[in-house]
Amino acid sequence: MSVEISVVAPVYNELESLPELYRRVCEVITLTGFTWELVLVDDGSTDGSTERIRELASQDEHVRPVIFARNFGHQVAITAGWDYARGNAVVIMDADLQDPPELIPELVAKWKEGYEVVYAVRAEREGETWFKKTTASLFYRVVYRITDVKIPVDTGDFRLMDRKVVDVLKTMREKYRFPRGMSAWVGFRQVGVPYKRAERFAGVTKYPFKKMFTLALNAITGFSYFPLQLATYFGFACAGVAIIAIPVVIILRMTGSQFFGGQATTLLSVLFLGGVQLICVGVVGEYLGRIYDEVKGRPLYIVREAPEK
Ligand code: UDP
Ligand code: MG
Repeated sequence: MSVEISVVAPVYNELESLPELYRRVCEVITLTGFTWELVLVDDGSTDGSTERIRELASQDEHVRPVIFARNFGHQVAITAGWDYARGNAVVIMDADLQDPPELIPELVAKWKEGYEVVYAVRAEREGETWFKKTTASLFYRVVYRITDVKIPVDTGDFRLMDRKVVDVLKTMREKYRFPRGMSAWVGFRQVGVPYKRAERFAGVTKYPFKKMFTLALNAITGFSYFPLQLATYFGFACAGVAIIAIPVVIILRMTGSQFFGGQATTLLSVLFLGGVQLICVGVVGEYLGRIYDEVKGRPLYIVREAPEK
């Protein structure tokens, strides 16, 4: 069976949303008249989602289950989706129905116009905390400023990609992944479609602050050397201050001024520079650790069961 559209959803403990997700995707795609499949990537769920996915797959052959051996994280689950999807277009969406399946026809229409990446832009977000909205907004803007790739702001992983794009992405096996950055990096013809991000259908967010922070780090380290260059900038700034301060202090001393006397000055400058240096070493360590992980060359994910590719 040749598949025109693959819908990929990473699933991590989404038991209550699954039947609704299946129902709505099914309904929307059937209307478009394309042949389709729904790739559900189970990212080590522990709440019975795995069994539910198997059940859906046994009832409908459109559903293709990819079941991980443990939790590997959202980004890796998306990657597995790229690997197993067979469609000429691949739609990535969350399983919690925050990305409405009803937008798929619009994405498909743009694809038919000739766009190879059609990403959904969050025009509005519903039912999310002030904290989540502010940190998310800040995150997109910081990443936009300091990374070398212009990753569209307010854009999540919800998007449609042409087979050509997915084939390129499949060759990018980096360990620390930021899929929306990767899909901006590859180029091709891209376009955004605005949508209203819905509330979670059921359950709670699987993205605590720590995971959001890690994602931000992956985005920044994966697409920019800026943090590494900060050390150089700091170095020049401190050296510059010293070059000006040395003759000033010598002259002050020679003229008998007590202006720079005292331990406090010494202690503060040692503490300040010590702090700056430790932070810089930490930044280098962050990149070094990532290089080490890349060099190990471990597989990105391990599947317990999956259909043939
Ligand atoms: N998810 C996943 N693995 C994880 C965390 C999340 O596959 O380790 C899935 C989750 O099931 C959902 C999607 O990624 O389909 C987005 O997660 P979530 O809705 O919790 O994030 P939020 O929308 O709150 O940012
Ligand atoms: Mg969500």
